[in-house]
Amino acid sequence: MIPATLRYHRASSVDDVLSVLADHGDEAALLAGGHSLLPLMKLRLAAPDVVVDIGGLPGLSYVRLDGDTVAIGATTRYHDLMRHPVLTEHAPLVAHVAGVIGDPQVRHRGTIGGAVAHADPAADLPAALLACDAEFVVRGHEGERTIAAGEFFLGPFTTAREPGELLTEIRLPRADGRGWGFEKFTRRAIDWAIVGVAVQGNQIGLINMAGTPRRASATERALAEGASIAEAATLAAEDTHPADEPHATAEYRAHLARVLTERALLRASGNG
Ligand SMILES: Cc1cc2nc3c(=O)[nH]c(=O)nc-3n(C[C@H](O)[C@H](O)[C@H](O)COP(=O)(O)OP(=O)(O)OC[C@H]3O[C@@H](n4cnc5c(N)ncnc54)[C@H](O)[C@@H]3O)c2cc1C
Repeated sequence: MIPATLRYHRASSVDDVLSVLADHGDEAALLAGGHSLLPLMKLRLAAPDVVVDIGGLPGLSYVRLDGDTVAIGATTRYHDLMRHPVLTEHAPLVAHVAGVIGDPQVRHRGTIGGAVAHADPAADLPAALLACDAEFVVRGHEGERTIAAGEFFLGPFTTAREPGELLTEIRLPRADGRGWGFEKFTRRAIDWAIVGVAVQGNQIGLINMAGTPRRASATERALAEGASIAEAATLAAEDTHPADEPHATAEYRAHLARVLTERALLRASGNG
């Protein structure tokens, strides 16, 4: 399939990106790894007038330790996250999740910023970042602001980022030795999750159990009050709104959330 006619602009700096966004507003789309945007364009579900390529933007691909915070540049690709020594030591959940997204081709192109900005409820990293209490730094003409992951995802493919803003950095507290677990149930080996669960310590992010990534708050509360993992996991689907589809009903997804939460918590506690 062939996309509609468009103007391609290779961005040279963050200021350059912001100025094109200011000129074209909603008519401009940012291209990072292209693994979500290009399929949408081929299907004509997206038809931007201008595509601004930020994939090679200098200075936005990095991982570094900034005191107690792990800072990740928005255009850092999954392949560069999965074995990065700062992440394997200080944010092992994020390193692991980056390593199980799609296939090698997807991991060599896809970026953490693209996954966050695209806000697909079935995506893996947003839920993992939610479980890690991440924050997202966005920059616009008015300056920079930081949005907590819990306030960033507003609905399917909808975030608190304004159209004129560029997501520049993902920040998360160091894991400090807290255990982690990740469980993803798919129909075929490299599919998107029907349901997934990301755990760091006793914090739990759910994939595909609502229009946004969700914390399993009832389970987290039960654990804090002393419930066993098996007891707490039975609450994993509380306050969720999973899609009801022929290949996976809402009831089936709720069952998966409970089972996968128990498994991920057991792994995080060293008993999985
Ligand atoms: C075959 C295949 C399998 C896949 N499997 C999985 C999977 O198992 N799990 C999973 O989680 N994902 C999967 N994906 C999706 C993949 O992770 C995408 O790479 C990701 O969703 C988007 O990242 P990207 O860098 O490719 O973004 P792009 O496609 O370039 O952009 C996506 C959207 O985000 C916007 N955007 C990008 N970067 C920024 C930024 N810095 N600031 C503001 N807006 C920005 C773009 O304008 C666009 O609207 C798969 C994709 C494919 C093609």
